Amino acid sequence: MKIPYARQMIDQSDIDAVIEVLHSDWLTQGPCIPALEAALAATVGAAHVVAVTSGTAGLHLACHALGLGPGDRLWTTPLSFVASSNCALYCGADVDFIDIDPDTGLMSLEVLAEELHRARHLGTLPKIVVAVHYAGLVLDMLALFELAREFGFRIIEDAAHALGAVSDGITVGTCRHSDVAVFSFHPVKHITTGEGGAVATQNPLLAQRLSLLRSHGITRDAALMKGESEGDWYYEQVELGFNYRMTDLQAALGTSQLRRLDAFLARRRQLAERYPALLEGLPVKALPPSPDAAWHLYPVRVEASRRKDVFDAMRRAQVIVNVHYLPIYLQPYYRRLGFQPGRCPQAEVFYAGLISLPMYAGLEDAAQDRVVRLLAKALA
Ligand SMILES: *Cc1c(COP(=O)(O)O)cnc(C)c1O
Repeated sequence: MKIPYARQMIDQSDIDAVIEVLHSDWLTQGPCIPALEAALAATVGAAHVVAVTSGTAGLHLACHALGLGPGDRLWTTPLSFVASSNCALYCGADVDFIDIDPDTGLMSLEVLAEELHRARHLGTLPKIVVAVHYAGLVLDMLALFELAREFGFRIIEDAAHALGAVSDGITVGTCRHSDVAVFSFHPVKHITTGEGGAVATQNPLLAQRLSLLRSHGITRDAALMKGESEGDWYYEQVELGFNYRMTDLQAALGTSQLRRLDAFLARRRQLAERYPALLEGLPVKALPPSPDAAWHLYPVRVEASRRKDVFDAMRRAQVIVNVHYLPIYLQPYYRRLGFQPGRCPQAEVFYAGLISLPMYAGLEDAAQDRVVRLLAKALA
C-alpha cells in the first residue's frame, strides 16, 4: 500500500456539509464564506479573516493591499514554495532571498539584519519581508518585528505550513508582530477546501482593502463609493481588483474541516515526537523538536551523495517521499531574472540532502514504523 508524504482527511461530516450547500440557494457569495471567516478568526486569534481562492491569491492580495509595486523590493527565504516570492513579481516588484538557518530551515535573522544594514547604505531596503514558517516551525516574529520597526518594512507571514502553530504563547495568524498572515487549504495542508486560502489581519482598513480587491475592486458600501447611489442595483468599481472569491462549497468544507483541526494537529505532533525516537542511530538530521509547531512537513537531511538513491529506493517501496524545496532562485524562471547558484549557500546545502518523510493526520504508527524501516534499509 502506498504511503504518500501528505494527504487530506475527509469524513462523512465534510461530505454532508458540501452536499447541503449544493441543495441551497448559494453556491458562491453566500453565507458559508463569512461563517468560515469567523471560525478561522476565532481559531487563529485575528480580528479579521478574508477567505480567497488559494494561498497564492492571498499572498498576491496581501502584497497589493500593502502597496507593493514597481520599483519596490520584497525579501523572503529561498527554502519555500515559489508562491512566497512570485507574489512580488505579480505586483511588478523585485525579489531577493535571505539565506536560512541550517538547523531550522527558517530564514536566518542574523543574515537578514546584515543585509538590511547593507541595503540601508545602498538605499535598497525592502518594502515587505515574507516570513515563511517552514514545515510548521515558527520564525521568531518578535525579533523580525523589531527589525521591521528599525528598517521600516511590512511583514507578511506565509503561514501555509503553520495553521495552528503556537510560538511564545501566540497562535500564528494573531498577527501581533506582522501585518497579515496567509493560510492555504490545498489538500496537503492541515485542513482543505480543495483549493483555497485565507488572509488574517488585525488591521480593519487592510481587511477592507483585501475584501475589495478579492472581488474586482467593486463595492456596494456607500461609505466606500465615490459618488451617490443611483438605486438598489448600483455598485461601484473603485479600484482594479481580481476575482479571488472562494465558493460556498469550499467554505462549507473548510468550516467542517476546521472543527477537526485540533485532532489533526495533535496527531501531527504525535508523529513529530515519534520520528526522532525511531530515527535514532540513523545518519539523518531532523528539525529541532518543537512541540507547538504545526508540522505540515517532516523534512530530514541525509548525506547529499546518498539523497537520490535513498529517495528512489523509498519511492520504489511505495513510500511517496518528496523534497521541499529546491531554493526558489534556482528555478529556471528565477535564473532568467539573473539569480545565480551560490546566492544562499546554506539553503543549497540544506536542499542537497533533503527528503520529506510522510506527515499527515491519517498516518498510522505501523505505517510510520515502515517508513523508518525502509529509510534505514536504504541508508544501510
Ligand atoms: C502551499 C503553499 C503556498 C500556496 O498555497 P496554494 O493554496 O497552493 O496557492 C504558499 N506558500 C507555501 C509555503 C506553501 O506551502
